[in-house]
Amino acid sequence: MQGDTEIAEMHIVWLTAGLGCDGDTIAMTAATNPSIEDVLSGALPGLPKVHLHNPVLAYEVGCNFVRILERAASGELGPFILVVEGSIPDERNKAEGYWAAIGTDPESGQPITTCEWIDRLAPRAWAAVGAGTCATYGGIHAMAGNPTGCMGLPDYLGWSWTSSGGLPIVCVPGCPIQPDNFMEVLYYLLRQATGAAPMIPLDAMLRPTWLFTDTVHEGCDRGGYYEQADFAASYGARSCIVKLGCWGPVVQCNVAKRGWINGIGGCPNVGGVCIGCTMPGFPDKFVPFMDEPPGAHMSTAAVNVYGKTVRSLRQFTLASMNREPERCAGHRQPRAEEPEITDPT
Ligand code: SF4
Ligand code: SF4
Repeated sequence: MQGDTEIAEMHIVWLTAGLGCDGDTIAMTAATNPSIEDVLSGALPGLPKVHLHNPVLAYEVGCNFVRILERAASGELGPFILVVEGSIPDERNKAEGYWAAIGTDPESGQPITTCEWIDRLAPRAWAAVGAGTCATYGGIHAMAGNPTGCMGLPDYLGWSWTSSGGLPIVCVPGCPIQPDNFMEVLYYLLRQATGAAPMIPLDAMLRPTWLFTDTVHEGCDRGGYYEQADFAASYGARSCIVKLGCWGPVVQCNVAKRGWINGIGGCPNVGGVCIGCTMPGFPDKFVPFMDEPPGAHMSTAAVNVYGKTVRSLRQFTLASMNREPERCAGHRQPRAEEPEITDPT
């Protein structure tokens, strides 16, 4: 079995033929830690040689790209990691037509559906990765009322599915993926393929545990304001935006800590409410996006008394901390007045 041997060359076969916007591919190109260029150029020691086959980034187009998929499906290509981007539609829920496809079957002249490609490719894949919330849990296209019956890779292949390398499906949710999250997972899998890393640790929703255990709130720049019950009533304030619709306290995502590109940004840090885009229940469980989350109403009321009291006590302590000790003050030049502590809000 491929999982028992060290792999010297690995292909990344990337399907973007589900219902999606190619946003995860675009996001991935912004990764810096590591970058896709570093992985493909062999700049990082200890990795197999990596070949990327992504229809948005490939030099091959049309039938030439489809030929790569055919070679992967027939076993000619060699070991590969299958990356699925976009929701997977239910092609059995209608009498005729198709929801998503890439390429044409030369014998029947009919489009080859995305589902058929997954059926052909998944059994041969050394590992299978869902990139983005559409591919992991269905995302936007799986909203109530959507006729496509869209779902994520675990719902399609089965939550206990394992690859030819012996790995469960690896889910990297996000709308889109946080670039470094995805590349870090890819890097981990490549290290695992060389035998240099143990089995990737995943939680019950098949997410890498080191990336998706903590909540947005636990890494948010505005957490101190929340704790002191300092809640913004409108955008543009630097205080906590939970009452404007932030779901950060109950959403597992590291974007507030990690930023978006090269450590910069991160939704609530820069003033955007967290809408829960990494979560399996997104978007239905998080709409309407700009209203105060129901749970926040109760928790902010609870924190109000404690937070405001603690805040005023801290202002008092801060005022005393902002003075030099008496032994220093005795030797210094007299000042006109001691600095005043002002309310930062
Ligand atoms: S802005 Fe959101 S994530 Fe940040 S402290 Fe407030 S509720 Fe938590
Ligand atoms: S902070 Fe919230 S909205 Fe932003 S990426 Fe994370 S889950 Fe999505």
